[in-house]
Amino acid sequence: FSSKLPKHQTSIFTVMGKMARDHGAVNMSQGYPNFETDVRLKDLVTKAMKDGYNQYAPLAGIPQLREQIVNKIEALHKKTYDPNKEVTVTDGATQALFLAITAFVQPGDEVIVLKPAYDSYEPAIELNGGKPVLVQMKGKDYEVDWDEVKAKISSKTRMLIINTPHNPSGKVFSKRDMQQLEALLRDTDIILLSDEVYEHIIFDELQHHSASAFPGLAERAVVCASFGKTFHNTGWKMGYCVAPAELMAEIWKVMEVNVFCVHHPTQRAFAEYLKEPSHYLQLGKFYQEKRDRFLELIQDTAFKAIPAQGTYFQLLDYSDVTQEHDVDFARRLITEYNLASIPVSVFNKDQLDQKQLRFCFAKTEETLVEAAEILKKVR
Ligand code: PMP
Ligand code: GLN
Repeated sequence: FSSKLPKHQTSIFTVMGKMARDHGAVNMSQGYPNFETDVRLKDLVTKAMKDGYNQYAPLAGIPQLREQIVNKIEALHKKTYDPNKEVTVTDGATQALFLAITAFVQPGDEVIVLKPAYDSYEPAIELNGGKPVLVQMKGKDYEVDWDEVKAKISSKTRMLIINTPHNPSGKVFSKRDMQQLEALLRDTDIILLSDEVYEHIIFDELQHHSASAFPGLAERAVVCASFGKTFHNTGWKMGYCVAPAELMAEIWKVMEVNVFCVHHPTQRAFAEYLKEPSHYLQLGKFYQEKRDRFLELIQDTAFKAIPAQGTYFQLLDYSDVTQEHDVDFARRLITEYNLASIPVSVFNKDQLDQKQLRFCFAKTEETLVEAAEILKKVR
């Protein structure tokens, strides 16, 4: 047989995670919290199991959860989705992304991807016979050149993928970014896939500008979200997407033959837990404290930082330490110093190396202190 993904390599998260474990390193590589999810949420899942919610859920998710999702979006972004036609609960955002790409990308179609990009987009496009068209975000603060994006649009462009707040850079798209995107897509039939998994992790009074909030975007957007990021349980793999009914109908065709539905008891738990908005609205403050603490702790190191605007990732510029390639340096940080991070070049167009490493600060105080102590020794 011939491989459908001949160039595909093991995810950098798996590679760095394994190296970290092998060396017993302080692990700030793969993005997940090293603290617990709320015990009340765990109790709600076990209660749902004990109460007998152990058989298939409806394809799109249980109505109570879809209702809560719609209410949340309405309150935050003033956009009303139909809970019966425009919401699907998915196996994490990764599945939502895959469903949308599979539902709409046909062989020969082009999909514009802003780089650096989360590593599941391009393989999903390629598995469906599509062609990723890459546009690199500019400079070490990752500005989008919307004119360049516009120049990449062709008659074959089927989809454009954005991610805000952005992994790995921590950049948050401004209102102006979203308006420029809206203008650019007007009069096209391009579908927007908006990856908003870090929607609630946003700092310094900035606002999350969801594609849902812009009529010219919402009418063509599949917006993807992740409960794993928001509620500290990435291993539960629960998320959702919202989209206009016409698009969602196509997504359901794929969902039906893909998994049909996702874990039922967990949906019961989230439906209950989402009734209290403070469970997600305080997340920005919670992670801003962690970001600020990490930045304070590393002040006396040779690493430089532009503070992340959102997400639980902080990029550190190590160009004053060494000129090594970021992949080599990330490996050496593990083997010589026992600290694991993620090299950013693997997400960039043409593996552009800007001498930056990504550190996940969704970690306990103890881990942040340990990491900073190590970074102080790296000169
Ligand atoms: N998109 C981005 C930008 C992410 O960082 C992640 C998680 N690493 C995902 C999607 C996937 O989310 P989930 O774990 O809910 O599948
Ligand atoms: N989203 C996580 C990160 O960026 C990784 C998820 C995964 O390993 N697929 O670190």
